[in-house]
Amino acid sequence: MPKIVVVGSSNTDMVVKTTRFPEPGETIIGEDFFMFPGGKGANQAVAAARAGGSVIFICAVGDDVFGQNALEGYREEGINVDAAKIIKDAASGVALITVNEKGENEIVVASGTNADLSATYVSGIVEEMEDDGIFLTQLETPIETIEYLARYSKLTDQPLIINPAPAQKLSNTILDGLFLITPNETEAKILTGISVEDEVSMQYAAQALLQKGVQNVIITLGDRGAYFMNHEMRFLVPSYPVKAIDTTAAGDVFNGVLTVCLAQNMNWKESIEYANRAAALSVMKMGAQGSAPYKEEIKKFN
Ligand code: ATP
Repeated sequence: MPKIVVVGSSNTDMVVKTTRFPEPGETIIGEDFFMFPGGKGANQAVAAARAGGSVIFICAVGDDVFGQNALEGYREEGINVDAAKIIKDAASGVALITVNEKGENEIVVASGTNADLSATYVSGIVEEMEDDGIFLTQLETPIETIEYLARYSKLTDQPLIINPAPAQKLSNTILDGLFLITPNETEAKILTGISVEDEVSMQYAAQALLQKGVQNVIITLGDRGAYFMNHEMRFLVPSYPVKAIDTTAAGDVFNGVLTVCLAQNMNWKESIEYANRAAALSVMKMGAQGSAPYKEEIKKFN
């Protein structure tokens, strides 16, 4: 199976529960405190590894305790992080999250070293790789790095998947020739200007991306499943009906697992069905990275 090369963010999420949010200038005493590994790149790398992929994760962390713990966690998941950029005296990415008693949250992200995952660094790594791989990236990484990956993928014929999250417009040079893009409904609207509400608008939004030169489009639709379109076919794969407890990172699980399926040469329908299945399992559990299911669980879930 080809290697899966995830290029993306690594964060540490720090969550404090409170009864209410503080007013500006106010200090309040919170309740429980939790620390979780996060970042879209890391979440997708972990989901892919748990689903049986052979994963290389290229990320940038500081040499602080957060960075060291994160890398150790990825190694425990069986992910190769030998190519991680470790930056001396720099702060790793963190997200400070406050959750009030209504379950609402306020989040401040300090990207830290994620902003240092430069095109120069990534090119130095990927151009030295012996075997071809399938590349997966998101938009928590500098755009010049995404542009580089898009160019490199076309030049070398190694597929690149972009999960365009957090939502951001992408240039035609990135989109033209891109193997696969996987926006959710909001991201599809930002990319195309088309609101995705029903099957007709899904088709228009996907069509608009194909017209920009993308080869394959998957729009994820939350509890409605995922819509696929390329120049040969289009279809909707419904999601698994489950009782959702926490949908955080459902998209990350979908992308990580889908990439494993494609690396195994499964066809589009089977791959999306399997990724839907894994994502449904993840929404039945609390948490982001920790809720990614293992291969055995995905196989026996129906
Ligand atoms: P997130 O931002 O929460 O990571 P996303 O907005 O990127 O998610 P979604 O389109 O919400 O992505 O969900 C991705 C996939 O997860 C869906 O295509 C579907 O397979 C699965 N999924 C999401 N929500 C549900 C749900 N409530 N029940 C079953 N499956 C779900």
